[in-house]
Amino acid sequence: MIDRKRGFYDEEQERMPAKERAGFVRRILRETVQYAYEKAPAARRKMDEASVHPNDIQDVADLAKIPLTRKADLKNIQKTELPFGGLAAVPPRGMRRIYVSPGPTFDPEGREETHWRWEKAFVAAGFRQGDIVQNTFMYHFSPAGLMFDEALIRIGCTVIPAGVGNTEMQVQVLRDLCVSGYVGTPSFLMTILEKAKEMGVVPGDGLQLRVALVAAEMLPETLRKRFQEEFGIQVRQAYGTADVGSLGYECFEAKGMHIPDEIILELVDPATGEAVGPGKIGEVVVTLPNTTYPLIRFATGDLSIFTDDPCPCGRTSARLLRIVGRIDQVTKVKGMFVHPEQVGQIERKTPEVEALQLVVTRVGHEDRMTIQAVLKKSASPSDALRDRISETTREVTRLKGEVVFANEADLFEKEKKIVDKRKWE
Ligand SMILES: [Zn+2]
Repeated sequence: MIDRKRGFYDEEQERMPAKERAGFVRRILRETVQYAYEKAPAARRKMDEASVHPNDIQDVADLAKIPLTRKADLKNIQKTELPFGGLAAVPPRGMRRIYVSPGPTFDPEGREETHWRWEKAFVAAGFRQGDIVQNTFMYHFSPAGLMFDEALIRIGCTVIPAGVGNTEMQVQVLRDLCVSGYVGTPSFLMTILEKAKEMGVVPGDGLQLRVALVAAEMLPETLRKRFQEEFGIQVRQAYGTADVGSLGYECFEAKGMHIPDEIILELVDPATGEAVGPGKIGEVVVTLPNTTYPLIRFATGDLSIFTDDPCPCGRTSARLLRIVGRIDQVTKVKGMFVHPEQVGQIERKTPEVEALQLVVTRVGHEDRMTIQAVLKKSASPSDALRDRISETTREVTRLKGEVVFANEADLFEKEKKIVDKRKWE
């Protein structure tokens, strides 16, 4: 039997005693700030404007002297001097890959040995050398597919670059290639498993899936329990972004997501900008010791809560208990970000429409998106118009949604372009 409960990628680092960890963090902090100041013009500009010199930053608490760089502002910073607006420390030709996120925002991948740092997450989740892993994250434009792909290869797994969709073929591959690991969203895993059941591929008869790392969506405990009890799959979740890679991962204990040792993560009160203590809600702010993209105080817009209680697994890093939401209206539907500006884009492309509102709900384990369309007085509802709005929505958001014609009074909170009605129990 393979032990999927205990195991480390870098045991010495992951179990650093508190004192050693504090010293380690101080060292990478000073190096990163110094490096970014020298090599990334946008970081230098930001620090100069705030009259902060790298020597002023000796400890994590000193970071508060440097203003945040918001995720929502990346595209504007980049636009000032494409493609990276001075945020990157090397020119595009010095990078391995460049990805394109909605916005568009460009995400560089450096030539470091591991740019996205997902190896620890996989080992902590129970992936082992020899696992055959189906990676259902997107491989084009988005870094999601490749960032997990490469970490899996580095820990000795074999990867099937399956990408998104095509459920029936996913099941066939799962069976024919004796797949033991899955990476993707939790909802798509359940979709595949339900299809598998329909096709007669079940545990003990064709289904050999043992372990899964899920991300980009909430994982309700009820769903995790179903994976374990009905299908015998150990599911652990991770958290990260296309800008900075891994930001947290669960170990076997599943009592929160360990913050990677090699990054500096602050939780900051979005109203006051001050660091929050354990148990309090704060925005995830990252300083990234990366020689290609050394972001200093990158504010993700994600809200979380941390704990520094010891974890029985032996890792000494603090943990993010969960992601509790977004500071703005930007939300994630089926693992994809949807911005209010995108709803505005759909409106502009549909002259008959007075206003649109996206409503996100959850049916079973899946996100559903409904587009409420309020028409101008001069326009009348028709199937053709409905199809056109639906198609435009798909083009703009890369998501399918059901279009319903509505009166202005039907909209939930009129000023909101996106309403999230999902409940996570
Ligand atoms: Zn742990």
